[in-house]
Amino acid sequence: MKEVVIVDSALSVTEALRQNPTSRCPLEILAQQGVIPVRYYSFDGRLHQGQVVMDKRLVEDIHRVFVRLREERFPLQSVIPITDPRFAWDDIASMSANNASGFNYRTIAGTTRLSLHAYGQAIDLNPLFNPYIRADLVQPPGAVYDPTRLGTITADSFLVQLFDELGWEWGGHWEDRKDYQHFQKKLS
Ligand SMILES: [Zn+2]
Repeated sequence: MKEVVIVDSALSVTEALRQNPTSRCPLEILAQQGVIPVRYYSFDGRLHQGQVVMDKRLVEDIHRVFVRLREERFPLQSVIPITDPRFAWDDIASMSANNASGFNYRTIAGTTRLSLHAYGQAIDLNPLFNPYIRADLVQPPGAVYDPTRLGTITADSFLVQLFDELGWEWGGHWEDRKDYQHFQKKLS
């Protein structure tokens, strides 16, 4: 019997790449983005379909990661682009919903520097369970990092190993701050 897939996100390419009116993305960066359909098991144990917006050159890496996520039955809450009206480019709203996302034309929290998310070269997974922590700042607000919880990413996770093999960096390895949800691959 064919497994019924729950659709979390089915935006058109135009919708998925909609410009943020308060933070317009240069067109050459926008043109580099691909809208990648992905399938994953969520916390309900069911197969879901979402979309991730990333640099087109990372499509093969993302495909391999999601194949492995399904094989390992590692749950993702949802994978919905930040342009979706449910989030409307609000990263805190997306993180608080434990939603995974890639491209978002924005700066690094607390700085004026562009994040690699602004180039579609970073992805955040289960951000509510894998928060960003720098000194007293925790994002999303109120999030708790509990390595024993299903859907949490730890240094010994197959995900960290796989991304490493593919040439990505994990924010959980950073010294001055921890960004457990975050994987990035800087392209030229
Ligand atoms: Zn991130």
